[in-house]
Amino acid sequence: MTRTPLIAGNWKMNLTYIEAQALLEDLVENLKEAGHKADAVEVAVLPPFVDIRTVQTVLDGSGSGIAFGGQDISEHESGAYTGEVSGTMLKALGATYAAVGHSERRQYHGETEQVTNAKVKAALANELSPILCVGEPLEERKAGKHVEYTLAQVEGGLEGLSAEEVKKVVIAYEPVWAIGTGEVATSEDAQEVCHEIRDLLATKFGDEVADAVRVLYGGSVKSSSIVDLMQQADVDGALVGGASLKADEFAKIATYN
Ligand code: PGA
Repeated sequence: MTRTPLIAGNWKMNLTYIEAQALLEDLVENLKEAGHKADAVEVAVLPPFVDIRTVQTVLDGSGSGIAFGGQDISEHESGAYTGEVSGTMLKALGATYAAVGHSERRQYHGETEQVTNAKVKAALANELSPILCVGEPLEERKAGKHVEYTLAQVEGGLEGLSAEEVKKVVIAYEPVWAIGTGEVATSEDAQEVCHEIRDLLATKFGDEVADAVRVLYGGSVKSSSIVDLMQQADVDGALVGGASLKADEFAKIATYN
């Protein structure tokens, strides 16, 4: 297996640019002290858009190898789309990633499968790796439909992509009931769905693609739960919300082994 694990911090709507600078400087220091090697485990942060320029400045020349990206991306390239941020703008700052279809975007901003799919395509068109977020709400889990529900989101998000394009996508399985609730899915729950996602990729795009794509788990990940999660064959990293806002805790997660 040649997949480099990815630990990505989703800051959500937290941290002013001044706070972002302080956190990131601490994180660079903490990772260095912990002996983090960027080629063994990739670390990324997803700041609010207004913090990205600051993040770029701190990381530039830090030698930390920390990547960054947007928490969202417009499906449009440019023009009269008030409040939107384009892939071109993110790319110009040196971003590597753009999260797409986070459950908070789907839930509070009514993002449909079609919009999510268009955003995945907008990221790829700008040479950004989309982090496609998928995962079931509690009712679907209770009804035993979590796999079916999540796979439908994966299919919708990847609709119309070539195998080569899919290789550049990161998929984050984030059960909605585990996000920000302190309720981590068990590592077996995470493995079950991440495995099904990889199976679907193999069926639709072939084994080479399935082997290349990183599938992350997200939802209340902490330093106390990361080791078990990372031992699962189909979990290639984590998308971390709350715990990414503390430099020491996030550095512990990123240096889990
Ligand atoms: P959490 O958020 O770690 O705070 O549960 C994860 C996410 O929403 O990406």
